[in-house]
Amino acid sequence: MQKYRRIEIKRKATWIRMRPHVVVNVAMSADGKLSTRERRQVKISGAQDFTRVDRLKAGSDAVMVGIGTVLADDPSLTVKGEECRQHRKNRGDTEHPARIVVDSSARTPPGAKVLHTGEGKRIIAVSRKADPERIAALEAFATVIVAGEDKVDLPVLLDELASLGIRRIMVEGGGTLIEGLLRAGLVDEIYTFIGNIIIGGRDAPTLADGSGFVRETEFLRLTLLEARKIESGILLHWHVENG
Ligand code: NAP
Repeated sequence: MQKYRRIEIKRKATWIRMRPHVVVNVAMSADGKLSTRERRQVKISGAQDFTRVDRLKAGSDAVMVGIGTVLADDPSLTVKGEECRQHRKNRGDTEHPARIVVDSSARTPPGAKVLHTGEGKRIIAVSRKADPERIAALEAFATVIVAGEDKVDLPVLLDELASLGIRRIMVEGGGTLIEGLLRAGLVDEIYTFIGNIIIGGRDAPTLADGSGFVRETEFLRLTLLEARKIESGILLHWHVENG
């Protein structure tokens, strides 16, 4: 009994030490929307913020998105700037960070850009409910991690990513995945670029969608680290207190 307890404590300690550092980055309109109510991608920021985001991406071991973003935007999640790619290569990394899609049912289209554009590792995180044939099709292009029964179990996934040597993850959205990560206490930092447009619409995605928090005791507390004007908008950098 005593021995069993010691092992449990050791496993918990290992998990805490190894959990990757998670940084969320989103661009939102002045009214807090990430895209239109039809989930159509919108240009919210300009060239200067684009460069900041590219550098943030280049400094990460992995970029993570939810399947909703892959289906809506078909992003490649690559590092765009030649200088940033060269910097990664100089330190012995692949040109692009690993790309991770959180996708319980393995719905990622086998032709998705994220699986084909640029070098670097691809990881699809699925749950046990995912169809084995879909998993097999994705395994031609990506490492598939099974975590959770119905939805992807995010703490288990992050634990697994840590064991693959991933220490710093940039999350590019969307709001449903971000809410899941926030709810699980897995987010350390948030960058929000707030652009000078209003998109509107009660059904347009926001930073934290999902079911949201109800009681004040559940609300997440943030510390503002920086507020900086960039072009026609403002960048806010937050630390998540319980992340
Ligand atoms: P999303 O957050 O990209 O993906 C959500 C999906 O992830 C869920 O529906 C769920 O689908 C899957 N998932 C699996 N396990 C989960 C878990 N434990 N917690 C949460 N999600 C889990 O999708 P979205 O909210 O629809 O966002 C897409 C929209 O955001 C698009 O309109 C896109 O343009 C926009 N976007 C904007 C920005 C920006 O910076 N402005 C950035 C990215 C995206 P399954 O149940 O099938 O697994």
